[in-house]
Amino acid sequence: MSALASYAAHEERSRGRRHAEPPPPYRSEFQRDRDRIVHSTAFRRLVYKTQVFVNHEGDLYRTRLTHTLEVAQIARTVAGQLRLNEALSEAICLAHDLGHTPFGHAGQDALNECMADFGGFEHNLQSLRVVDELEEHYAGFDGLNLTFECREGILKHCSYKNALTIGDVGERFIRREQPGLEAQLANFADEIAYNNHDVDDGVRAGLIALDDLLEVRLFADHHAEVREAHPRIQGRRLLYEVLRRMINHLVTDLIDSSVARLRETGVDSIDAVRAQRAFLIGFSEETAAANQQLKTFLREHLYRHYKVQRMTSKARRVVRELFDAFFGDPALMPPEHRAAARRREASQGPTGRARAVADYIAGMTDRYAILEHRRLYDPAERT
Ligand code: MG
Repeated sequence: MSALASYAAHEERSRGRRHAEPPPPYRSEFQRDRDRIVHSTAFRRLVYKTQVFVNHEGDLYRTRLTHTLEVAQIARTVAGQLRLNEALSEAICLAHDLGHTPFGHAGQDALNECMADFGGFEHNLQSLRVVDELEEHYAGFDGLNLTFECREGILKHCSYKNALTIGDVGERFIRREQPGLEAQLANFADEIAYNNHDVDDGVRAGLIALDDLLEVRLFADHHAEVREAHPRIQGRRLLYEVLRRMINHLVTDLIDSSVARLRETGVDSIDAVRAQRAFLIGFSEETAAANQQLKTFLREHLYRHYKVQRMTSKARRVVRELFDAFFGDPALMPPEHRAAARRREASQGPTGRARAVADYIAGMTDRYAILEHRRLYDPAERT
């Protein structure tokens, strides 16, 4: 592959780490970020966290971990084509969901409601907390001490109010600047991955029918193409053949449209990218509309399906009741979390206690949350 483009993230010009460390002898700085993420505890937890379908519903559904790997793989391909920093894109993608609660978005929404009086809860901000503070892996510092560029990429959105409280990576939200291209790319890789794998998982679960999908233009076009090339193909193989073409279409469009925008604007450094009014990575208008239609379809047919809603409602109840129990009596938490609650409460009052409880709950896998809930509320369960 050719050398990095001028607008890519170059490690010699990195804004560095929060705690100075000697450079790694045989890896790049961004490769070291990536490796630290893979070795983190939060990364291993992703295997038992819900994407859309709760883990115990079946072995073949995506979990946060397999979702994350698909995102990273798409991002690497695009980064290579745009001559961006592949290791940095990969690191950002591998870390992008580390702050997710158990039970997917239902868990995040419930925890956010519980935290309403204490600054709220946002999974994206929590991903940054995980890599900056919560991981206990290194002798010299809390967190993973990642590069600025990686942390900037992990924090993909942030309210103005929160931005004021988080230092260097919050500044761009105050100044309305953009993140580097590797970070921009991670957002799109995330979308391409989940829109397509949610179709697969939805069909597998029997919640979406192939016939319904034909109302989605992106699906219908590629479906027609596959039927013409392979008239006898059906079932799973047909679905996969359509999905791989959809992913390919989206990725190709993303590369071509981004190249065109990079040329038009003539940016020649990461700082020039940051100073732009909008993202430079993105789909063409036509593909953006087609992608949006797919998203709307998934929302109506899958995420709002009554069977998914039932799981969502159970998940909310579990998270809410865990929070109530631990916030009401932090002594119910295991010693390290109880100590964190005491420490934070001493400096910040009830807000500090609530944050320690939220950190504990957000770190749980689905099955651990269910087990904790049982231990707290079912008298017959061992504690
Ligand atoms: Mg994601």
